[in-house]
Amino acid sequence: ESMFKVGFLSDVYQERPVGPEGISKVTTRFPPEPNGFLHIGHSKAIAINFGFAKYHGGECYLRFDDTNPAGEKKEYDDSIEDTVRWLGFKPVKITHSSDNFDRLYALAEALIEKGGAYVCHCTKSEIVDQRGGKKGEKPRYGCSHRSRPTSESMTEFRAMRDGKYKPGEAALRMKQNLEDGNPQMWDVFAYRIPAKKKDEEEEGDEEESRENDTRENGAEAAESNEVQYAGPHYRTGDKWKIYPTYDFTHCLCDSFEGITHSLCTTEFELSRVSYDWLNNELDVYRPMQREYGRLSVSGTILSKRKIHELVKNKYVRARDDPRLYTLPALRRRGVPPGAILSFVNELGVTKAVTNIEVKRFETSVRRYLEVTVPRLMLVLDPVKVVIDNLPDDHLEMVELPFSKDPAMGSHTIPFAKIVYIERSDFREVDSPDYFRLAPGKTVGLMKAPFPITATSFEKDPSTGNITIIHATYEKPADGSAPKKPKSFIHWVASSSERHSPIKAEVRIINPLFKSDNPAAHPEGFLKDVNPDSEEIFPNAMIETGFEEIRRRAPWPAEAGEKAVADEAKTDEEHARSDASTMPGNVDADRGDSFKAAARPETCRFQGMRMGYFCVDKESSAEKLVLNRIVSLKEDTGK
Ligand code: ATP
Ligand code: MG
Ligand code: MG
Repeated sequence: ESMFKVGFLSDVYQERPVGPEGISKVTTRFPPEPNGFLHIGHSKAIAINFGFAKYHGGECYLRFDDTNPAGEKKEYDDSIEDTVRWLGFKPVKITHSSDNFDRLYALAEALIEKGGAYVCHCTKSEIVDQRGGKKGEKPRYGCSHRSRPTSESMTEFRAMRDGKYKPGEAALRMKQNLEDGNPQMWDVFAYRIPAKKKDEEEEGDEEESRENDTRENGAEAAESNEVQYAGPHYRTGDKWKIYPTYDFTHCLCDSFEGITHSLCTTEFELSRVSYDWLNNELDVYRPMQREYGRLSVSGTILSKRKIHELVKNKYVRARDDPRLYTLPALRRRGVPPGAILSFVNELGVTKAVTNIEVKRFETSVRRYLEVTVPRLMLVLDPVKVVIDNLPDDHLEMVELPFSKDPAMGSHTIPFAKIVYIERSDFREVDSPDYFRLAPGKTVGLMKAPFPITATSFEKDPSTGNITIIHATYEKPADGSAPKKPKSFIHWVASSSERHSPIKAEVRIINPLFKSDNPAAHPEGFLKDVNPDSEEIFPNAMIETGFEEIRRRAPWPAEAGEKAVADEAKTDEEHARSDASTMPGNVDADRGDSFKAAARPETCRFQGMRMGYFCVDKESSAEKLVLNRIVSLKEDTGK
């Protein structure tokens, strides 16, 4: 059942406001701040905003809420847009809060003009006191600036704009209602002068995002003697020293864009009153804000600052390391966009915060991959088997279906005298409760016509590792059917150059943390890092069907990936037309290599008995690197 049909989102739709003139369709926005990569939690916000609009035949904006120059970057802006498109959504328009800086400034002056805002010079602790103290134990009162003449506030606001005040020395506050029980009505900030962060590397932390929301960080800076202006802003440069707060910006930008349903997380529930208050004071179109529960994921960390620490201390290789839960990391790991969307849909949407363990997410991904990706055989840790009773040049082609679903088709793979099997599928000493290969024991090779029986093995005397297993091919001489073995193992064969397996380095992804709540570790979350979070198998082998899977990726194409493939195709065509107009100058094959090289994450498959795998972006022409997306079953380990 679609999450839009029943429950919270259906109720919200019933309440749809009558839009301003010209607006008749559902219009939503996804409003990220470009201060980091999106993470799995954001996929819920994306699915809700884009999905809700789509479901009702409406439109969704991608609006970058870029009102804090400290920490916002073009790089994040690009990455976020890319992620939204990867998930298969097309914003009707891409906007930035900063597009409206002039218009917002004019409205701030208009608000001052009508007595709705004043410039305040109080420190953070003075403001806390005016708001009734830390515990709300004291009566609330307005400061002396609250009653200053409108013209004085106007002059001071322009002085703020013109750089006459340092960060924290002045802010514009809305003149709301101190009697109201809702703290969001206690004269919240409209404009502040943001300060440069002490450590430029240090990025925002979502765990504190609401309190630490840029709206009041001007006041904080005054107490720490911080006087450097933040900036430059990645879009408006040095034009502004003052920046509008979330509380001032969000409702107005929603209004400008004709948003009908402004859907946000429940931390903003109390803000709904000031949202309506400001649009009302300024007499502009009032969209409807409604709040849903966040998606919180345990067993990992999503905080930008903490991810930065993991990278800096080399626990992970980058912010898109497949062990992380940023969306670029999940993408790189090979999780299909459709799996993420179906996961969000499965969870449904209510006002309550949804707490999910990463394991549950993986279960959902596994279920999705099971029915969507092709299968082939991959041996993680190969050991050589020589089938002594086959001639050296023996070659049989064996048909292997790509799936249980015949519609996915099949491919043929070579079977030869030399095959490689998983080291863990062989035992030196047989036992009655063991069903795979051991001396004297017969085992089936998946889809091969006849089973094999191990006869002996050779060891490297220096390491004690088995180097070769000798076996015989159990093909009855009289042409009768062979006895069906108790179990079947996966394998790859090697005969000629053309029929040799493809080598790969496989990275097995294990949980990055030992506990479900790394942030709660008494000595800090880094102490909770699992030392075996990644196991590397440098000599894995894949059967030859991999080439076809790689050529056909994404396979099968799904919404987001099809869009991506189409973009690639456009490029391909582009290359072709370039080639025809500039003979000799352009490689006409560029389009193809672009597609394969640029989208490694769309090449995924099931390695029978071993899990789901995907090409990692570190792969090169010389070296193929695969990530294991998830195991076949929960907790099977290797
Ligand atoms: P973070 O600090 O984790 O990036 P944020 O709230 O600061 O979180 P924004 O970039 O402001 O991130 O978020 C963009 C949108 O995504 C907002 O509407 C926000 O409410 C929503 N969002 C962020 N995190 C989650 C989550 N865990 N679950 C659902 N929606 C979320
Ligand atoms: Mg954010
Ligand atoms: Mg935020």
